[in-house]
Amino acid sequence: MMIKNCNNCLCHLKVCQAECCKEFSLIIPKTQRIYKGMIIRQVINDPDLINYYKLHGIKFEGKIGIFKLFDYKRDGEILTLYMRCNALTEQNLCSLHNTNQQPKVCHYPNKKGIGANVYLTQNCLFKKKVVK
Ligand code: SF4
Ligand code: SF4
Repeated sequence: MMIKNCNNCLCHLKVCQAECCKEFSLIIPKTQRIYKGMIIRQVINDPDLINYYKLHGIKFEGKIGIFKLFDYKRDGEILTLYMRCNALTEQNLCSLHNTNQQPKVCHYPNKKGIGANVYLTQNCLFKKKVVK
């Protein structure tokens, strides 16, 4: 479903339900075996991403993120974890929007384009825009 003349998140929210704020993806080796309850440790060097993952409830030991697998989907090397951001309101709005606490990675995708290492969710307006 596309909304005519919609070019920003606010007008697309009724379709996507802010799914970008309820999941994120990690890259894992294609051959890695995974299972429910498993813990994946990944070194995260980017302070912005550390902030982003912490907002999604991920614990850290220094720069090591502790990703526990509960609700997830695997597609080859892309492992998607369904974990809602703590900053997301019941109305699917970002309570940190335009504050310096909002991770910079959250600014993409937007009208400025798709950032590197950003995975577009299934119903994201911007995915529909870039997929021909
Ligand atoms: S900080 Fe805001 S924009 Fe970023 S994931 Fe959380 S709710 Fe979404
Ligand atoms: S970035 Fe995509 S999924 Fe996230 S709120 Fe905007 S349109 Fe929805």
